[in-house]
Amino acid sequence: MSTDYFDLEFHTDDPKLTKLCSEYWKITEDGKFARTGTDIAKEFGISSAGLGKLVECYCTAYSKEIFCNNCGRPYFYDNRSDYQSTQRYQSKTWICRECQEIERQKQELEQRSKEDAQRKTLREEFDLKFRQPIKLNSLSLENAVYLLSLVRSCGSEDFSYAKPTVMIKEPFAPSKDFEINALKNLFRERYISVHPESDLGAFIFDTPIRFYVDRVMWALPIDENGSPKNVIAALEEKFRDMDWNKQWEDEQLELWMKIAHEECIQYLDVCMKDHGFTFSPGDKTHLVIDSLLREYSVGQVYSFIWRASKDAAAFYVREKVNKQHAANTVVGNLQRQGERAKAEGWEVKPYRRDRRCPESVISQVFFNTALQIGEAGFTQKPYQAI
Ligand SMILES: [Zn+2]
Repeated sequence: MSTDYFDLEFHTDDPKLTKLCSEYWKITEDGKFARTGTDIAKEFGISSAGLGKLVECYCTAYSKEIFCNNCGRPYFYDNRSDYQSTQRYQSKTWICRECQEIERQKQELEQRSKEDAQRKTLREEFDLKFRQPIKLNSLSLENAVYLLSLVRSCGSEDFSYAKPTVMIKEPFAPSKDFEINALKNLFRERYISVHPESDLGAFIFDTPIRFYVDRVMWALPIDENGSPKNVIAALEEKFRDMDWNKQWEDEQLELWMKIAHEECIQYLDVCMKDHGFTFSPGDKTHLVIDSLLREYSVGQVYSFIWRASKDAAAFYVREKVNKQHAANTVVGNLQRQGERAKAEGWEVKPYRRDRRCPESVISQVFFNTALQIGEAGFTQKPYQAI
């Protein structure tokens, strides 16, 4: 049966049911339904809900206006309100469910073959076969600390890989830049290799392939037998026995300063944000922090930082100056506090670590495992300790 708006297909020979369905879908010349559902239901002695169910079961109404853009199959209406809403909202272009499913499968297949090709490229590009055994004696103190930090925080049970640093909860280094540079260092010196089974999202498939150092998985260094286990055991032992060479002795102050410096910058950032300041440390800030660390421990510099940012906030409120101007007073304030404390021989009480700046893995490995001084790394000044 056909009307101006749809073709009706019946799934029954029963004349009463056929009539019921026809009445349901009957449309007047002005495009409105001829009778209300209640009226039809009443005539056939059933409920309105029962009417809907019978029509759905015994009749399909195919649109004469809307067709699948892909296969040409006509749209079919679930019920009257579906018809009404398509009249109001649906554009005449439509893709049927079957065609959508075929398209989805096609895209999935394309995606999978693209990923297979990318994986193949990675396996060629970062083939672990070509790794050279590591020589532990040539490792600098800095790289030894970074490597052990990576092994301890990210290494798998069998040391066959280290997961991406971005996946661990505790901070790997005192700052993100520090983390990236530490990993780059290890990679550049070939102590670690990019693992070809890393998540594909860690790479940018340009020529040459680029990758995010904090998102790739790493292959750990191997000995002559191709095993990472012995290398790591030897590295742990070297630290445990404090088997240091002259080069390591010479390097330690520099590494201490580097870690201490970043820890101060990190705390400065937290304090400034506490007072609603945005502040990006420039050369002057870095110089002032370094000179403070020649006289004071990180814990003591924390107390200067806390005071300086509090003063800047008070200055901002009191003098109604520009916020950036107030933030910029912090560096001068830090310098003055340091110089005054020294000149007047003040005893500067060290702060504790702030829970918002938890100790990083690198800091723990350096102070607890390498220097074996624990919290003193925070409460002692680098220059006095070494
Ligand atoms: Zn279709």
